[in-house]
Amino acid sequence: MESLKRIFLFLLILFLFNQPTAAKTIKINMGEFKITFYCPCEECSKGYGRQTSSGKTACSEHTIAVDPKIIDIGSKVLIYGKVYTAEDTGGKVKGDHIDIFVDCHEETEEKGVKYTQVKVLKKKKDK
Ligand SMILES: [Zn+2]
Repeated sequence: MESLKRIFLFLLILFLFNQPTAAKTIKINMGEFKITFYCPCEECSKGYGRQTSSGKTACSEHTIAVDPKIIDIGSKVLIYGKVYTAEDTGGKVKGDHIDIFVDCHEETEEKGVKYTQVKVLKKKKDK
């Protein structure tokens, strides 16, 4: 019986150590950013439609355009409690400015221009 208990304890410890923890992601405060919105229309995307500069297809609630000097392409970015992916760049997106991709042009006008705190999510490397 004693050895069974030991095996069980060993398995339990193994299980607990293999659990992914939220602490592995760190949030880097980027400060206040200007937030604007763009869509696949001619006026917003200059004929690129859903094609982003990174080669990915732009999706609403997911794709954002950033200045790659400020935020790396591929970064996960937290805006208004939602996680977006930096997949695009834009001629007008410079410095502390993020352009969020939406599906229709009406939405870009409805949402207008906003200012908010932005965080970049980085995975902590296990060593
Ligand atoms: Zn548009």
